[in-house]
Amino acid sequence: IKNVYFFGNGKAEGDASMRNELGGKGANLAEMTNLGIPVPPGFTISTEICAFYAKSKKYPVGLDKEVLAVLQKLEKTMGKKLGDPDDPLLVSVRSGAPVSLPGMMDTILNLGINDKSVKGLAARTGNTRFAWDAYRRFIQMYGDVVMLVPYEEFEGAINDLKKKRGVELDTDLTARDLEELVGEYKKIVKKTTGKDFPQQPMDQLWGAINAVFGSWMNERAIKYRQLNDIRNIKGTAVNVQSMVFGNFGEDSGTGVCFSRDPSTGENEFYGEYLMNAQGEDVVAGIRTPEKISTLAKRNKKIYDQLVGIKNKLEKHFRDMQDMEFTVQQGKLFILQTRNGKRTGAAAVKCAVDMVAEKLIDKETAVQRVSPALLDQLLHPMIDLKVLKTAKSMTRGLNASPGAACGKIVFSANDAEEWQARGEKVLLVRKDTSPEDIGGMVASQGILTSTGGMTSHAAVVARGMGTPCVAGAKEAIVQGHTLFIGTKKFSEGDWITIDGSTGEVYEGKLPLVTPDISKDMDTFLKWCDDIRASAKRGSLKGFEVRTNADQPEDAKRAFAFGAQGVGLCRTEHMFFDKDKLIHFRAMIVADTLEERKAALKEILPLQQKDFFGIFKAMEGRPVTIRLLDPPLHEFVPHTLEETQELAEFLKVSVESLQPKIDRLHEQNPMLGHRGCRLAVTYPEIYNMQVEAIALAAAECISKKIPVQPEIMIPIVITARELKLLRPNAEAILKRVFDKAGVKLHVKIGTMIEVPRAAIRSGHIARYADFFSFGTNDLTQMTFAFSRDDVASFLPAYLQQNVLDVDPFKSIDEEGVGWLISYATQQGRAVNPDLKVGICGEHGGDPLTIDFCYRAGLSYVSCSPFRVPLARLAAAQAVL
Ligand code: PEP
Ligand code: MG
Repeated sequence: IKNVYFFGNGKAEGDASMRNELGGKGANLAEMTNLGIPVPPGFTISTEICAFYAKSKKYPVGLDKEVLAVLQKLEKTMGKKLGDPDDPLLVSVRSGAPVSLPGMMDTILNLGINDKSVKGLAARTGNTRFAWDAYRRFIQMYGDVVMLVPYEEFEGAINDLKKKRGVELDTDLTARDLEELVGEYKKIVKKTTGKDFPQQPMDQLWGAINAVFGSWMNERAIKYRQLNDIRNIKGTAVNVQSMVFGNFGEDSGTGVCFSRDPSTGENEFYGEYLMNAQGEDVVAGIRTPEKISTLAKRNKKIYDQLVGIKNKLEKHFRDMQDMEFTVQQGKLFILQTRNGKRTGAAAVKCAVDMVAEKLIDKETAVQRVSPALLDQLLHPMIDLKVLKTAKSMTRGLNASPGAACGKIVFSANDAEEWQARGEKVLLVRKDTSPEDIGGMVASQGILTSTGGMTSHAAVVARGMGTPCVAGAKEAIVQGHTLFIGTKKFSEGDWITIDGSTGEVYEGKLPLVTPDISKDMDTFLKWCDDIRASAKRGSLKGFEVRTNADQPEDAKRAFAFGAQGVGLCRTEHMFFDKDKLIHFRAMIVADTLEERKAALKEILPLQQKDFFGIFKAMEGRPVTIRLLDPPLHEFVPHTLEETQELAEFLKVSVESLQPKIDRLHEQNPMLGHRGCRLAVTYPEIYNMQVEAIALAAAECISKKIPVQPEIMIPIVITARELKLLRPNAEAILKRVFDKAGVKLHVKIGTMIEVPRAAIRSGHIARYADFFSFGTNDLTQMTFAFSRDDVASFLPAYLQQNVLDVDPFKSIDEEGVGWLISYATQQGRAVNPDLKVGICGEHGGDPLTIDFCYRAGLSYVSCSPFRVPLARLAAAQAVL
């Protein structure tokens, strides 16, 4: 088998389709060569060899011969020999994996120079300074990345020399100086490694090849692959390419350019270059590069040629290209091309423009934009210019995207008070609870030190579109002080959080809010068309709904394109101050009459909420979940609250307290919650169903289209539904008959307990639809408390016990298996069964892809995630 692939002289042994074997860089160098683009000749050693080397620290037998043969071909093509004392061939050695991997060793330049060939190079080029400069750069790079000499050693030597000569810039050093520096550098190598700097060109070459292959398994690269979920890649390829020089004088230069603007997507040639420089000078930022447009004036011929090439490459690859070029004595070479990285705005604009230009079709356009990039467009971000140099203090979970800055407050009440007087606040807490809702609304962002991706803070923040960093373990809250490492913050100090990355910064960083464009609408409509065509059991379409508890949330989600409400959590309505007191009165009531009386107070308020949501959704389905949280959460927790309730009920605190104590639970999440509440107190659900029916009847009387669905949570057995469903049906009938309206209301259930998934075939007999509550289903399948995972989950991820946070992306093997099984069982009983997901996973692109494969009819996610979900769902369908 072939392991080494030549490219040069207009012909290459590989091509762009061989990305897996040749890496992105190698495959594109081959493709460009075949296209007749001027690429310095060279060869690529395949990723297979990397895999072999990673396992055995050896190379397959015969590789050395294969490399030698291709090297000879290269030498013949170039008319020069590696290390030739009279006219040496110099090469670069670079890594290049099938996906870009910044954690790896990157580049060695000028390989092939030694004590003899440096003189030949000087003679041939007629430029002694250039030759010695190339040699010292080579020792510096090779010493650093191959021989692991600390970089500062070289830096120190060159700085000492400059001081001695009384000069400031590297370029002020003469040929003699550089020759002296090479001597110094060689001493440094000997001193720190105990070895001489290699003089044999083949030793140099293999040293570099070993280093590139070795870097695949270095800690940084492994970490990067882990963080970015990059798996199933064999390794990196090695590209050996003949050197061209941009530092040959004023008719030489080097630069980087993009075929379109990577930050706006505008179809404008974009880039920077430096005359008389090598690539590293552009990167090092010592001299300020010039805009590519000025090259047109300086060297029209080269500029026109470059424009021709970028047009050709963009047309060929049908995507925006990011290219590196070098001009050597008036001759242009392209050293690399790849699909350019871009911002969310640019991604959408390029995709839409390229469809209009007939460069790509809509399906390709939809696949081009990653959901995470699209998400960028919906939230404020830290100004990229500042972000580059900003140092984060600590990192938590990226619980709700977007950046926020504000003055620290430590309680929800303070948040509300400070906000009322016009302050921008950031709520910092150990965790949050339902009572904090007002303070959360008042805050720019939320930072918690405990809790996972589905903790209260995370779920609520996402729902509101408020940035949130959760579970930042190193952010320690003690009273009214926040400690992060050695830093101490008091109330009123500014901090900035980035909920998209989980980073926390000191002070007030500048934020920018991207504008949502017309292109985005066009783009998302294409996504909708793709989704609409999907087949799901006997149903059509893979829909995106939203989780919304308030009319404003529903309105926002509707504007973002939600096709219905997949989850309306009614408990949030109870935590509202007006309702909470009545609800508390209800749960401490002694008699059915008292309970009914308290509920009666809540009924009109619930009806109003429901009406608002129905109206906002303009006739699209609205799934209302009946009350779920543990009773425990509604119980007064402080003396103040108890007093307030006692006053309201006109009883003494002493007589009330024992009742409250009785309601205390050791493990509320596994306690008196969900439909268990209705089995013990049917009047709660009955009241809610009545409010739903009344709100629906009100809509109909006002000619507002309406489509409510009732959802019963925490079900474990069909018998619960068998018991509760008739109650709901009777109430619906009574209300509708009385109002003289006709409306069919579906009654379905959540599958969020493993037992329910296992018994789904039976449950489906009593349910018109299923919705997977994957927060609880994950919690209960793993037996991981969703509010307490922060203490151990990081260790699980670090030590590879788990690949991903199961509260972020669905665990396909376990929880996902239950979902697939329950969907099949349910549809076997009822082929029209609509099946969706409403846990937080519903807004996660990987999970959305899984849901499609599992046959689900829709996903439901928080309003701000709806656009992203429309895209991810379309990508799943394609
Ligand atoms: C769930 O469990 O996934 C769900 C949607 O319900 P909640 O988050 O309210 O428990
Ligand atoms: Mg749940």
